[in-house]
Amino acid sequence: MISKVRGTQDILPARFTDKPDAQIESWAIVEQAAREAFRRYGFEEIRTPIIERTELFERGVGTDTDVNKEMYTFEDRDGERVSLRPESTASVVRAYIEHGMFNQPGLVKLYYIGPQFRRERPQKGRYRQFAQIGVEVLGQSDNPAIEAEVLEMLDWYLKQLQITDTELYINSIGDENCRPAYIEQLRLAIGERLGELCGNCKQRYETNPLRVLDCKEERCQPVLNQLPTITEMLCDPCRAHFDEFRALLDERGIAYTVAPRLVRGLDYYKRTTFELVGNQLGAQNTIVGGGRYDGLAEMIGGPATKGFGFAFGVERMVLSLPEAIVTTSRRAPTVYIAYIGDQARRHSLALARRLRAAGVAALVDLEGRKLKKALAVANHLAARYSLIVGDDEIQSGNYMLRNMTSGEQQRLDESQLITILNDANADR
Ligand code: AMP
Repeated sequence: MISKVRGTQDILPARFTDKPDAQIESWAIVEQAAREAFRRYGFEEIRTPIIERTELFERGVGTDTDVNKEMYTFEDRDGERVSLRPESTASVVRAYIEHGMFNQPGLVKLYYIGPQFRRERPQKGRYRQFAQIGVEVLGQSDNPAIEAEVLEMLDWYLKQLQITDTELYINSIGDENCRPAYIEQLRLAIGERLGELCGNCKQRYETNPLRVLDCKEERCQPVLNQLPTITEMLCDPCRAHFDEFRALLDERGIAYTVAPRLVRGLDYYKRTTFELVGNQLGAQNTIVGGGRYDGLAEMIGGPATKGFGFAFGVERMVLSLPEAIVTTSRRAPTVYIAYIGDQARRHSLALARRLRAAGVAALVDLEGRKLKKALAVANHLAARYSLIVGDDEIQSGNYMLRNMTSGEQQRLDESQLITILNDANADR
């Protein structure tokens, strides 16, 4: 048998898998609530290719980032280097430029849902193909009100999903005016303790000292916790921006912790960065990551553009869903129709057709099973109701509807049947 590639998942109906983040019903909850949040806050959907020129990510994401090192890159037959996208912000900004969206007045607010690819070591909550849902706000303004509103939307979304056991961490990593001096100071401080740090940190010390703060190695943490932070070195405009952002979060009653060593894994961030961490998730506990990336558009050859956005992994959001919301989402058929005899079979098929036309999720036995076996299937599929068609039903046009949980039975004509079954549909 040929199995799936390591680090990938099949997302299946829940009855075929015990893995909580591989259950399609949970994915549907996460996606539907996201679309509803985006609708309310005025975001439009965009779909970009999963394959892009490697150069886009080299320029956009940076050549010495984790994300870049983990890319699936190959040479196409005509010699062009292409990569499976490791994230979508660079692609969305490319599309923004390529389609002249910057010519529109006002902000362009986009969202995407789709797979990403990174060749990481697979573990719980970390895959080589995973799905992200993300938003980007692009335009000429870097008003902190944009950031606060995006976080307000995220807050609304989490409430819809009843996800409560999370922490929001925020930081400002400065801009091109104040960051260079900080990085110099950081480099000096790291240099003094280099012997205590892991090999990865040592390399980052040479290439990109800011990223040392991102290291998750246990043994590096005591050193990292003593490294200088940028907070005291922010220039006045960066400080004012951060203060305003925090005031707007306070106004909205959104709780957060300032994490002065929170930097993000990609090169293009500036000023505001944030992460939402799930307390129940274990090692891979960052659910959402985001920040401001003014200047990314220029890095990939477009006009000066300001940007702010976030992305979250669908798998990790699914793992954070409370059990109650997951169980009520299972999509069982509303009614299963079984029958006795040939004439009843034809009648049942026609009845199922009429019920479906009226909006009911109806299943009918197609395998010619004996009544008892057919009802066992209905039970197995957790149908809410079952209904048996025999000669009496054909003649009277009345049906005995059986509630599969309580065992209660009701005799109903077709229009009553439709009313009851549609009500049952509605309260799912
Ligand atoms: P990033 O693009 O690295 O900032 O990641 C944003 C979010 O995407 C993370 O907080 C995770 O929820 C998710 N994510 C990133 N990498 C993976 C992965 N390899 N597997 C599953 N989810 C991931």
